[in-house]
Amino acid sequence: MKFGGTSVGKPQRMQEVAKLITRDEESKIVVLSALSGTTNALVEISESLAGGDRFVAKEQIDELHAHYRNFINELLTETSAIEKAEAVLNEHFEFLSIILKISFSQSLNKDILAQGELLSTKLFSIYLDEIKVDHVLLPALDFMTIDSYDEPQVGTIKVKLVQLLNKHRDTNIFITQGYISRNARGEVDNLKRGGSDYSASLIAAAINASVCEIWTDIDGMHNNDPRVVEKTKAIEQLSFEEAAELAYFGAKILHPASIWPAQFFNVPVRLLNTLEPDARGTLITEKAGSVGVKAVAAKDGITAIKIKSSRMLLAYGFLRKVFEVFEKYRTSIDMITTSEVAVSVTIDDDVHLPEICKELEAFGTVEIDTNHTIVSIVGNEIAETKDVMKRSLMPLNLYL
Ligand code: ADP
Ligand code: ASP
Ligand code: MG
Repeated sequence: MKFGGTSVGKPQRMQEVAKLITRDEESKIVVLSALSGTTNALVEISESLAGGDRFVAKEQIDELHAHYRNFINELLTETSAIEKAEAVLNEHFEFLSIILKISFSQSLNKDILAQGELLSTKLFSIYLDEIKVDHVLLPALDFMTIDSYDEPQVGTIKVKLVQLLNKHRDTNIFITQGYISRNARGEVDNLKRGGSDYSASLIAAAINASVCEIWTDIDGMHNNDPRVVEKTKAIEQLSFEEAAELAYFGAKILHPASIWPAQFFNVPVRLLNTLEPDARGTLITEKAGSVGVKAVAAKDGITAIKIKSSRMLLAYGFLRKVFEVFEKYRTSIDMITTSEVAVSVTIDDDVHLPEICKELEAFGTVEIDTNHTIVSIVGNEIAETKDVMKRSLMPLNLYL
């Protein structure tokens, strides 16, 4: 069971989470995000430090500390529990104060970003102790590892996690941090923003869970982004492929990479609403359930790269050479169109764009177009479904 930022963002919500995880006797691993707003606040603190603005960083740290002091006073009742929570806050905010004196680095940045999940899980654990719920807090940094390409190491995660679980055979409820991991150098790292979903799916895959439940603030995957479009509705069933496409192409409810571990190990995923725990939500399995358009998603910040070359005419191996450039810079291509004299691709990560362009220029003229959006219409057997293109493009007057 994974609970996102809003599901633990208020003391009352955290108390509801405790009720949800104790509704049945089943063994479970509970993955928590940071309280809503915390990771954003930590990003701002890090940016202030990176910019050399220690005074502003100090103010931001104090503001966050005050927020947490109020939080624990509302969450907990017993003096001993409040004292324990104060000690946790002191430990983590002292760390943040110390970093004010250290010179900024990328690894320090990752340490700062990890504080949110460390805090939420420790405070939740103190609350569970207060209400006498037997549980064990599992440090994600002891089992969640990524390799030198930032890819999670499923095999290692499984071995380490199972070893830890075996130490507590009598325990039914385990609590752990989403998002944070250890990298190939053994440093604290993370699975990128929104990464707690990915943690949950990796954990579910590692222990071959019966289900991976993603609890959030909405009743499942909607057929469009509810922040942008009115009157969207929840989708009852999606295939892994459909959910993965929607997540990758912009449906913020899921981290872009969060579906593959569950899909690979065939663990069903359920998207559920903490505010409405009995709503059906969305079930994601191998089966699509129906044919046709299920949902639309959009992804901004896309860069299109067009390579024009008469050398492509009747040549073979041209595309391979183009793709090798992207492979070299570990930049994934989202979309592609080609004709006999041009190939256009899109990427969402332009960190290596200058180097990529330089190498592509050896093949022809290169044109770059930034700030595009990919709109994805996702569903099962769309290509065979009558009229989908017409109905999709008509509102845009693009259907000729
Ligand atoms: P959490 O903090 O629980 O991880 P997120 O904010 O990451 O929650 O994801 C849930 C939010 O995703 C919803 O509140 C909603 O605004 C947004 N969202 C964007 N696209 C969709 C979609 N297609 N279906 C459902 N929610 C979506
Ligand atoms: N707390 C992290 C973030 O805000 C991870 C997550 O919430 O999934 O990005
Ligand atoms: Mg999220």
